[in-house]
Amino acid sequence: MAETLNPRAGIGMTSARTRGRMVERLREQGIRDETVLAAMGAVPRHLFVDQALESRAYEDNALPIGFGQTISSPYIVARMAELARHGEAGQGHALNRVLEIGLGCGYQAAVLARLAREVVSLERIAALVGKTRVRLRELRINNVKPKHGDGLHGAKDFGPFDAIVVAAAFPEVPGELAEQLAEGGRLVMPKGGAQQTLCLVERQGDTLVERLLEDVKFVPLLPGVA
Ligand code: SAH
Repeated sequence: MAETLNPRAGIGMTSARTRGRMVERLREQGIRDETVLAAMGAVPRHLFVDQALESRAYEDNALPIGFGQTISSPYIVARMAELARHGEAGQGHALNRVLEIGLGCGYQAAVLARLAREVVSLERIAALVGKTRVRLRELRINNVKPKHGDGLHGAKDFGPFDAIVVAAAFPEVPGELAEQLAEGGRLVMPKGGAQQTLCLVERQGDTLVERLLEDVKFVPLLPGVA
């Protein structure tokens, strides 16, 4: 699809095969949700990083995307998408509205966009929002709404959200984000500072059920905009 329209389509066929291998690796790493695996197999990760890093795009690593930020590794993107769809167990279901905090290069948003009707994604660095907005347009990804803003406040006007995925670490679950979760909705985020743990929060009525999962390493969530 979009790959054929892109000037960097030259490695298109190669990248489809490489992505297939990445999906096999994700299976071995324990990702089970076929819908998530299909999304990971479909999004051209190499088009979200600088051309110089293209050949490394499918390695299981975080990579620099400028402005001191990183694109998350394929495993962590898939893991968070799986948790967003069904928590730790049970059947995954299609998501209506998803909020992402930390748009970055837009890769995770593009994966989530295949699992949800609409993804609103907040990014604090204005230059990154501009660059990523153009990239998403070029790739014809129309159901991601990039917004410049401080993710700590969420996006009340667009909620409530079936899932909130936070791509930067913070010592606690931000109250305003938890408030914007729909009934039964799930928030996934790296919790902590130097030491971080992936945290899953599910809203059940007025109660928030919080579970700590595996150790992770993310850039910090910073207050305010830049
Ligand atoms: N999901 C992104 C990962 C980007 S890294 C991707 O696939 O590329 C995390 C991003 O969170 C960075 O771009 C950083 O600028 C952004 N960020 C950090 N604090 C933030 C805040 N308070 N509000 C919104 N974005 C924030």
